[in-house]
Amino acid sequence: MANANYSLSEPALKRQIAVTPQGSKLEPKLEIVKPPRYTLSWTNAIVITLSPILALTLGILYVRTAGFAWADFANYLFMYTLAGLSITAGYHRYFSHRSYECNAFVKFIWLIFGASAVQNSALAWSSDHRIHHRYSDKDQDPYNISKGFFWAHMGWIYFIDREKPELENVRDLQKDRLVMWQHRNYILILLVVGFGLPFLIGLACGRPWGGLLWGGLIRMVLGHHTTFLINSAAHTFGTKPASSSISARDCWWLSFFSFGEGYHNYHHAHPSDYRNGVAWYHCDITKWVISALSVPGWTWNLRRISKTES
Ligand SMILES: [Zn+2]
Ligand SMILES: [Zn+2]
Repeated sequence: MANANYSLSEPALKRQIAVTPQGSKLEPKLEIVKPPRYTLSWTNAIVITLSPILALTLGILYVRTAGFAWADFANYLFMYTLAGLSITAGYHRYFSHRSYECNAFVKFIWLIFGASAVQNSALAWSSDHRIHHRYSDKDQDPYNISKGFFWAHMGWIYFIDREKPELENVRDLQKDRLVMWQHRNYILILLVVGFGLPFLIGLACGRPWGGLLWGGLIRMVLGHHTTFLINSAAHTFGTKPASSSISARDCWWLSFFSFGEGYHNYHHAHPSDYRNGVAWYHCDITKWVISALSVPGWTWNLRRISKTES
C-alpha cells in the first residue's frame, strides 16, 4: 500500500490532500491540489495494446481451424454477463457509489467476477472512479474527456499518476475484509476466474481452447472497450436531460451492451442513485438485476434520488 507516502503530517508532502466529509459519508472527498505527474506503465501499455490484436488474430485462426460452436458463444455470454454486471452493479454502483446494500454472497460474486474483467481491484477502480466524479473534466480527472476522446477511452491507462494520493478516498472500502482480500489476491483471482473458469467450462463442452479464447480473451477485450466507451462516448455523444453543465451524456445505444451504464448524464447528476436509466423504458439491466436481488433480500436500501419510476 502506498498510503505511507501521503501521510498528512509528512513535511515533504508532494501533494496536499485532505479527506473531508461530504453528502454521503460513504464516499469521502479528496482534495487534490497538485496536477498529475504521469509515467508510462509498460505492463498496462503492453496488455491494453496487444490484447485486442491477439484476440482478433487468435479468434480468426481458431474459427478457421476449429470452426464456430454455440458452446463457445454461450461461454462468452456467460462470462461477459457475469464480469460485466460485476463491474456495473458491483465495482461501480456498489463499491464506488454505495447506492445500495448487499449480502456477503453478492459482494463475493461482484469481487471474483469483477477481478475477471481485468480492470484492477475493486479498491483501486473505486478510487479512480471517485476521483473521476469529484474532478470531472478537470486536470485531476483520470479519464478527463477534455484531453481528447482517445485519452478518456484508453490513453489514460498507459500511464500511472505518480502524484495521485493513492487510495485516500476509499478508506471505507479498506475496512471491508472481502474487498481487501480481493485487492491482495487480484492477479490470482483474475487468472482463476477470468481464464481458468472459461477454460474448464470449455473443457466440459469438449472445446477447452474455444472456452479460453471466447470466454477469456475475447470477452475481456470486448468488456474493456465497453467500459472504456462510458468514459469516452458517454462524455461525447448524447443528451443532457439531468444536467447541462457537465460533459457526461445520456447515450442510450451504449446501454444495450453496457448493462445500462449509457445513461451517464443522469448518473453524474445523481451518482448515489442505484439506477442510471430512471425511466421504466430505459434499458438499464443493472438496475433490474439489483432490484431483482432485493426480492429474496440479497440487496436492500436501494437509493433513489429522482422520483421518476422505473
Ligand atoms: Zn463519467
Ligand atoms: Zn459513477
